[in-house]
Parts: sequence; C-alpha cells; structure tokens
Amino acid sequence: MLLQEYEQLACNPKQATKFINRFCWPNYQRFCPKCKSRKVAKLSADKRKCLRCNFTFTNFTHRYLGIIRVEATTWLRIIKLFEMEVKPDEMAYQLKLSYNTLRKAITAMRLAILANSLDGPYLIKHFSLNELLKQKKIQITPHPIFGLIEEKGQVFIDFLPDMDINNFIHLKLNFLLPSKKIGQVIYTAPVKQYLSLMLYDQNITKTYKLNHKAQYIPLDKNKNFWPFAKQRLSSFRTTNSLNFLLYCKELEFRYNFKRKDFFIRLLKYLTTFYC
Ligand SMILES: [Zn+2]
Repeated sequence: MLLQEYEQLACNPKQATKFINRFCWPNYQRFCPKCKSRKVAKLSADKRKCLRCNFTFTNFTHRYLGIIRVEATTWLRIIKLFEMEVKPDEMAYQLKLSYNTLRKAITAMRLAILANSLDGPYLIKHFSLNELLKQKKIQITPHPIFGLIEEKGQVFIDFLPDMDINNFIHLKLNFLLPSKKIGQVIYTAPVKQYLSLMLYDQNITKTYKLNHKAQYIPLDKNKNFWPFAKQRLSSFRTTNSLNFLLYCKELEFRYNFKRKDFFIRLLKYLTTFYC
C-alpha cells in the first residue's frame, strides 16, 4: 500500500477499524473464536458473547493483533513503520507508545509472519512459540539450523529438523565445511540442495574451537537475496537463537514481498487466529 492510500486510512479511526475488520471477518459474519458458533449476541460495538459457550470476545480476540490494546489507526501506523524498517525505539517515540508495548507488537508481527511461512506451523508446534503471545519467556533447544534456498526470485530459509549442532560440528571438523560470520550469525558453503547453512553462534565456536575465516563462500557472489540480507544481518543484534529464528523468517518475508503487497499481507497475517 502506497503512502497516500495509507494516509487516508490512518487518519480516519472509523475507516481504519472498518478496514481491519474486513480482514477479521471476511464474510461480515462474526463467530466465536473458541467454539466457532455463529450464534452470538452483541454486547457493544466491538464486544460479542457466544450464545453456545458464553465466551466473550472482541474483533481481535485470539488473533495476533490482540497482543496489545491500541486503536486500529495505531496498528496501521505500526505496520507501516515496520514495513519501512524504522528502529523500534524510534517507532515507540513516534507513536507515543511505551517501548514494552511496541516490543510486543513487533513480536506479534514476527510470529504472524513465521506462522504464515511454509514451515511456520511446524516451527510453532516444535518450539511452542505461541507461548510468546502469553508474555512467557522461552528458550529454544536444540538450536535451530537453517538451509537457504533461492528459486525464481523467491527465497526460503528452511528450518532443518534433521540437522543439529552435532551434525554441524561434524561437517565443520571432519569435512572442513567453509564458513564465515556476520556478527554472531554463521553461514557456510553449499550443503546438499542448500546455498548455505545458517545458524546463530550460541557459543559453539568457542566451545569447539571452530574457524569461520573461509576465503571464499559461493553465497558471497549471490547478487539477489544475500546483499539484501547481509546488510540487515550486519546491524542485527541479538543474544539468542529464538530471535534469530524470528528474524530469519522476517528477512524471508521482507525479501519475497518487498515492494509488493507487504502492508496488506502483513495485516492479513496479523488478523489470523493463532492456535
Ligand atoms: Zn463459543
């Protein structure tokens, strides 16, 4: 969505609410998020009560958007600033939101993006990622390893469930797999069908005395995804594999939908139910 269309929406609270609700209830028919019954009673403009299970819900209940309570216009602004890659502290300042609230919104956006990626549903189940929506701190183990595939202008950063840190160390030490590092992110020469393996260095380099000073990595010659990702990864700061996992899926999404329907697509993802 271009800035002009977005501006018309973001300055009109009624229109913004209507716009988002259209994604929440595509057939204009509300149903209970818990038991899916369509028999609901209106309690207020936003609130409904299920006549079957008595569950009270709003338009955003059980949806990623529901992680914070803000006006529809604020959500549209958050999505637009996220699309424009504005830094979180600057976003919080511009939107007059607390940094904590803004972080929650970013977590919801990253989770919604992940949930809608090819291996997203598996990842959410495997690492119990939806606990993040309950403000719980989680640690993901074993540390995930990703394989990078680029095909017809689209990129896929696949989680490799059959590969763990021990396999990686085996490849490094016994097969001398060339690798390099950007910050704490390790990337390698091609392995099987993957252009590169990628993982977050959670102390494995130190523990196993690994070397990441390869002279040449074919991925560095890539003229499509890698320059896009490399620039962003060099300013990406995190201290754990979980944020790396979320960021990988964000990068995949940003690349595949840059200058396409980023805004609408992300809004659509945010209005989906999480389970
Ligand atoms: Zn119900």
